[in-house]
Amino acid sequence: MTESVEAVVIGAGAVGLAVARALAVAGREVLILESASTFGSEISSRNSEVIHAGIYYPTGSLKARLCLAGREQLYAYCTSRGVAHKRLGKLIVASEPNQIPALEKIKAQADANGVNDLEWLGANAVQAMEPALRASAALLSPSTGIVDSHGLMLSYLGEAEAHGAAIAYRSPVEGGAIGNDGFTLDIGGDAAMRLHCRYLVNAAGLDAQRVAGRLTGFAPGQVPPLHLAKGSYFVLSGAAPFERLVYPVPEHGGLGVHLTLDLAGRARFGPNVEWVEALDYRVAPEQAASFYGAIRRYWPGLGDGKLAPGYAGIRPKISGPKDPAADFMIQGPEVHGVPGLVNLFGIESPGLTASLALADLVVASLAH
Ligand SMILES: Cc1cc2nc3c(=O)[nH]c(=O)nc-3n(C[C@H](O)[C@H](O)[C@H](O)COP(=O)(O)OP(=O)(O)OC[C@H]3O[C@@H](n4cnc5c(N)ncnc54)[C@H](O)[C@@H]3O)c2cc1C
Repeated sequence: MTESVEAVVIGAGAVGLAVARALAVAGREVLILESASTFGSEISSRNSEVIHAGIYYPTGSLKARLCLAGREQLYAYCTSRGVAHKRLGKLIVASEPNQIPALEKIKAQADANGVNDLEWLGANAVQAMEPALRASAALLSPSTGIVDSHGLMLSYLGEAEAHGAAIAYRSPVEGGAIGNDGFTLDIGGDAAMRLHCRYLVNAAGLDAQRVAGRLTGFAPGQVPPLHLAKGSYFVLSGAAPFERLVYPVPEHGGLGVHLTLDLAGRARFGPNVEWVEALDYRVAPEQAASFYGAIRRYWPGLGDGKLAPGYAGIRPKISGPKDPAADFMIQGPEVHGVPGLVNLFGIESPGLTASLALADLVVASLAH
């Protein structure tokens, strides 16, 4: 006999867990299927842990709207649930006068997105705030912060479980089929089985396209391409001379090699953007040279031998290197016509910041 559950969420990253929490709180019976032996071992533990303000994204895009809404939800959530976080603020720096027009454009984009707390700082004001920085001008974003992503996921999972959700580790979804009254899933791993569910949320991150592609009855033309953009980090030995996050003017595919601080005050630099064909999380030590170059544009005082390879994450992009940046793709029944199914594609940054707002949207999409 095929076991049955009301709702399945595939993937226990920050987004899958936020969705599972929201569905469980809304009264659904939820099972989370995770192929790894623990939660959050893919994109959600390989990022900058920044709570983004919502500055750069095209106005009206899902990224802009969900980042703005999700950021405030996230601050409130972290405060009420005791998840470690800090509203540190960030500086976006024009290190040369010729970058000032780019900074003005960023300010205009932020205003259009409703991020209206940015402060324009001249060279002297930046110097007073962060004496080690070289800047002709900067934008201060007071609502940018950092969060303990592991603590956040633990809290999402704990709350989902408190509302009756269950999680099965080492349970990869290997295929499935769309039926008249829901979905049949083939689950591999230690306890291979077949499972029926009425609602299905595909939050498999880097594997979301493969999961959707293996769902018999789902039109292959609805599955977007997957492009992998690796981002490596280098860590700083010794104390960081900055109190805020420091970002250069953005580059194509990412936000530029920026400085983020973790909750213990340690500094890391990255991520860069490297288009790759396969998942490979090694950080190439020889990339250090390009990091020194990029960082010294805004921090000339960075000494030789101070950077060591850290870790890497991979962005699940649905647009390629030569395409314009794509938006999040939240594909519900109103898009593909399959009742009870939501696919989440291209959930790169600011997916962590937006996780609670993304989850609300998924729940609303399944209510139709
Ligand atoms: C370099 C980098 C920096 C970033 N920085 C930030 C930042 O500072 N701020 C921010 O807001 N966002 C940031 N992001 C984006 C953010 O990290 C992601 O949007 C978010 O973590 C995505 O979560 P997820 O749950 O969709 O994916 P994941 O965390 O990857 O979770 C997917 C899960 O699905 C599981 N899975 C896969 N296939 C299957 C299967 N077939 N069956 C069962 N389980 C399966 C995987 O094991 C995994 O646990 C960054 C991303 C990157 C790559």
